[in-house]
Amino acid sequence: MIYVIGIGPGCREMMTEEAIEAIKKSDVIVGYKTYISLIEDLIEGKEVLQNGMRNEIDRCKAAIEIEATGKTVAVVSSGDSGIYGMAGLVLELASKEEKRPEIKVVPGVTASIGAAAVLGAPIMHDFCHISLSDLLTPWEVIEKRLRLAADADFVICLYNPRSKGRSEHLSKAFDIMREFKGGDTPVGIVKNVGRDGEEKHIMTFDTMNFEIVDMTTMVIIGNKETYIDGDRMITPRGYRL
Ligand code: SAH
Repeated sequence: MIYVIGIGPGCREMMTEEAIEAIKKSDVIVGYKTYISLIEDLIEGKEVLQNGMRNEIDRCKAAIEIEATGKTVAVVSSGDSGIYGMAGLVLELASKEEKRPEIKVVPGVTASIGAAAVLGAPIMHDFCHISLSDLLTPWEVIEKRLRLAADADFVICLYNPRSKGRSEHLSKAFDIMREFKGGDTPVGIVKNVGRDGEEKHIMTFDTMNFEIVDMTTMVIIGNKETYIDGDRMITPRGYRL
């Protein structure tokens, strides 16, 4: 059996019981080292296979090979494994195997949901996830999605918003959305959701500070109805009050 597990954004409270049980049942744990370190106390004495971020394919292939030897394997991702995590890759690789491994995807609290709770209720209405990473997606596709999502007035949750190598992606994304998003559109920023150093900032399109955003940050951009109430961000569902 391969469990493909989302361990939530960082803290134990945001991990599901199903995820904890699946980890306990596994003989071998496969994952990126930052995620492994978040569950260290759960995996004492278990075999651990961790390698660098760019080796996702090898890591998932190894999980399939180990499962074929009769062991139970946990492939862990942060947040949810089906949202920019390992679930798709494990299932894609398994679909090419002659003898299909048994796979169970175990859901987790994704970063946008964790960040939304910290901010208040910013994703109460239709929203979308867009990753600004162009490692696996052409930048033109990302630009098109940003433009159309902003035009359709979705609340937009940005994953992979800014790294050292691609520090300008976030400001470029804002330039594209600016055509449709007013200057007073609320922008919620949450760093390290559920981890040490959790930080939240509520700004607007005009007062946005790109410098505070890094790769463990969620950026949530409101729709035309979203407003700021003190330290909260609220997107009305449409109730007449
Ligand atoms: N599978 C993960 C997403 C992986 S993509 C999930 O479902 O959450 C990595 C991006 O997710 C990061 O660049 C960041 O934008 C976001 N992210 C992951 N963990 C986070 C956390 N604890 N706090 C804020 N953002 C986080």
